[in-house]
Formats: sequence, C-alpha cells, structure tokens
Amino acid sequence: MNRRNTTYGPMTTAIHAGEDPDPTTGASAPAIHMSSTFVSQDVSGFSAHDLTPDSPYAYARWANPTTTMLEAKIAAMQGTEDCLATASGMAAASAIFFTFLSAGDHAVISDVSYAGVGELARDTLPRLGIEVSMVNMSDLNAVAAAIRPNTRLVHSESPVNPIIRLTDLAAVSKLAHDGGAIHSTDATFASPLGMDTGVLGIDLVMHSTTKYVGGHGDAVGGAVAGRSDLIRRMRLEASIHHGGILSPFNAWLIARGASTLPLRMKAHAAGAQAVAEWLETHPAVTRVIYPGLKSHPQHDLAQRQMTNCSGMLSFQVGDAATGQRIAQQMIDRFEVIHYAVSLGHHRSLMFWMETEGLMQTSFRLTGAAAEDYRAYAGDGIFRLSVGLEDADDLITDLDRAL
Ligand SMILES: *Cc1c(COP(=O)(O)O)cnc(C)c1O
Repeated sequence: MNRRNTTYGPMTTAIHAGEDPDPTTGASAPAIHMSSTFVSQDVSGFSAHDLTPDSPYAYARWANPTTTMLEAKIAAMQGTEDCLATASGMAAASAIFFTFLSAGDHAVISDVSYAGVGELARDTLPRLGIEVSMVNMSDLNAVAAAIRPNTRLVHSESPVNPIIRLTDLAAVSKLAHDGGAIHSTDATFASPLGMDTGVLGIDLVMHSTTKYVGGHGDAVGGAVAGRSDLIRRMRLEASIHHGGILSPFNAWLIARGASTLPLRMKAHAAGAQAVAEWLETHPAVTRVIYPGLKSHPQHDLAQRQMTNCSGMLSFQVGDAATGQRIAQQMIDRFEVIHYAVSLGHHRSLMFWMETEGLMQTSFRLTGAAAEDYRAYAGDGIFRLSVGLEDADDLITDLDRAL
C-alpha cells in the first residue's frame, strides 16, 4: 500500500501501509529479509553519494526491504513524507543532533527529557563545539528568549519524560521557524497517534519504537519521521556514515506491533484514565498527573493538542523516604505490574524516580528550573506505564502495594 495514501482510516493504514502480498510467493504476511547485500542488475557507483531515492537495494546499511516496510508504515501513521528507522530511540536522537548541528551552531533543548537525551545534550554536544540552551519548553517566553542567530535546532519532548509536562508544540514550531531553526520533537510518550504533528508544524518527530510503536517489550528500535529532504540527509549521515541501523528482524517485530497501534492506544488511554481516576481517590496518593485528568495543570493544552492521552501517568506519595518504602512494597507485592524501566508495552511497568537523584545525574537543574521540575514531581514520582491488562486487575495490584 502506498505510503502517501491518505484516504484510508488509521486502523487500515496501520495494518497495510508499507506492506503488499509477496509478488513471488503470494505470502500475505511480510517477509523478514535477512540479507546484508543485494545482487545488482547493472554496473553502478560504490559510494552512497551515487544513490538516488529510486536506487535498487544495494547494502543493508543503506536500506533493507523489511526496514523500508516499517519506515513506510510509521511515515503513514505519522502523516509525514518519509521516515528513518534507527537502532534505538537514542540512535534517533543522535541522528537528529549529529545531522543538523555542527560546531558553532546552537540548539535549544528541553531541560527535562528522556535521561539519555538530556545527558547527550549536556555532555556530548558542548564537547563537539555545539552550544546548547536547556530550557523549560512549557515556558514559551523562555523558549523565545533562548533562540539566537545561530540556533539551528529546537528539540522538544511532549509529554516530557518522566514528569508528563506538556509543550505547546505549535507555538514552539512557530518560534523555531521564526528564528530560522527546525523543530524536532520526541513524541515517544504520545506515540505516532497521540498528536497531529503536521498541524503542529513539527519538522521531525522522533520515537523510541522500543515503546508504543513496537508495543510488546521485545525489540529495541527508534525512528524519525518528517519531510523527505530532511530524512534523506539523516539517512546519509546517521545510517550510512554513523551506522546506527535497525536490524531487519527488529524492524519486522516492530512493524508487527505497529499494525495494532490504533487499537492499543485506545486501550492504553482508557486504562490509564481509569487507573488515574482511582489513584486520585487513594488516601496514600498525594497527587496524580495524567493529561486526561482535569487536575493536570495543562489539561486545556492536552485537550487542544493530544488526540490520545496515552498510557503514561505519574503519581506522588509524599516525601522521598515514603516513596522509597512504597517502591519496595511494590517490588514485594505486585502480582501483575512489573517493577521495571521502559514503557509503552502491553505489560504495565512501574518505576520510582526520586527527584534529588535525578537532579544530580541526568537533569542537573538548579534555581527556578529545579522548582519548575518539583512543581510536577515533588520529591519523587512513580512513573506508571499502563499496559493492556484489565484496569480492575491493575487497580487491585496497586491497592495491594500502596
Ligand atoms: C526510551 C526513550 C528514549 C530512548 O529510546 P531507546 O530505544 O531506549 O534508545 C528516548 N526518548 C524517550 C521519551 C524515551 O522514553
């Protein structure tokens, strides 16, 4: 099915985009092409610079049919021209940073983000001569003030890991474009179906496909979806030169998961809403943050911007010592929920994230920025990725541990 066909609904698109019955065997399901090289029909050049978008498959670091199938599927779901699949979510982030930033450039990056992205931005980019401003992206004045003449990239995340704070993505796109920069966003928590990123003016949307897109906790991968000219540049730099490509086997697993993404996202959001509403009534819980709750500080923005509130929520139980104690109770008493990092799987996953520790390792925020973080996270949060189990069973499990 043609990747740019927009006449189909989201479920048909998720199932069929990128796929066609095998022309030789008639196989209805896509094949896994475990081939690193491809036999050539004509004498062609040896450099990636000789490739055009219509070039036949040559070598799997350039492209592989199974990976192409996944890329077409994600591009269709995200509503973008093209997509680059990468070895992991971090490979997707580095594909963006190392394709579009050079020494002397400046980037504005969310001051709270996936920890690995935050550490890459704080430690590696400055080492390479790239100036970075880490900014609270929910504060549009701060974003505007951070943009400089040499700003090439504004990188946001929404909802932001781990505190579920939102960014007004349309407004940040406008600020970035007015400043001559591109806007990339990490939409892993929202999934490709959580927001209409085209309407929001975002140039590049990245995902850790380890999370919702794959959805089953069995494959690590990443993707960046966006305009074909930008994706082409990333394919040359990030895949062909830096080499962080996705294996065809993982591409197949992730595409198989992606086929049911629309159904799964509806169920994740419904489960999270039920669990969040129950948590708000529990005496041990001091605060719940979920975009689908009226109590979310940016509930209006969530309603405007999010087409699915996803399965990610956070909640607090008081001070750090109480959090630590309850985390241990969860490890000891949970029967259904796994106490583990990661998210977006069919299995529910819980992890305790203490604020002071994260400030020292990943985020290193001080002053007002640290206070902004604490306004969403207090002394620490439980991050819950609500899976696809029956909400009543999750609630029973939580009640057992709180
Ligand atoms: C997990 C995650 C990443 C990193 O993805 P990997 O596949 O683990 O490399 C990046 N951003 C967000 C928001 C994530 O949750």
